[in-house]
Amino acid sequence: MFGKDWDILLGIAAKTLPVSVREICNYLKIATLSYRNAEKFIEENNLDKYIKNDAFSFKQGESFTLLYNESLPEKELRIAILHEVAHIVTGHCDTENDSFDGRCTTYNKVDGKEGDEVEEAAYNFAAKLLSPACVLWALKVRSHKEIEELCLMPRRFARMRADRMEELYKKEKHLLAKEGKTCFLRSRHERALYESFKPYIQKLREER
Ligand SMILES: [Zn+2]
Repeated sequence: MFGKDWDILLGIAAKTLPVSVREICNYLKIATLSYRNAEKFIEENNLDKYIKNDAFSFKQGESFTLLYNESLPEKELRIAILHEVAHIVTGHCDTENDSFDGRCTTYNKVDGKEGDEVEEAAYNFAAKLLSPACVLWALKVRSHKEIEELCLMPRRFARMRADRMEELYKKEKHLLAKEGKTCFLRSRHERALYESFKPYIQKLREER
């Protein structure tokens, strides 16, 4: 079980943005198949009803096949796949629930399902994977447009991350005034991730 998005990014030794979704799936040993390439697989396993979603995960024993709609725009496809990764690694598919019917995940649409806790948590995890806060912080990124472009993610999720960054910057300001310390890079894992991205951060800073 992976507690943090950082563990996965450290696992793939991520060094640059945008983060590679393929590397994440390979690292987690999640097989991926586009709907187009999975026609036979979908028919054989009776998975037709799930392809209305942008992506879904099919559980067989302890392993998963992640199927996705290859015709989605790239940014949406990235979040759709990582939404499934989130369901798998955070234990949403361990037992039957509203998001998992015992065989497959049941909901994944980039236009969102407001108010559903598990679905929101999956989107949140996916968005965090695509836009690590310590990297955005080191680059002094604030606007959703910059996040959208740097991290290759849909605007809705870039906005969500920009809002989160504002909260963190506020917290940092408060802590700097009170303790002279930032709220970033406090955990060992976050520091390791920052180190991994450091050459990229430096390069981008020089270019900006
Ligand atoms: Zn879902």
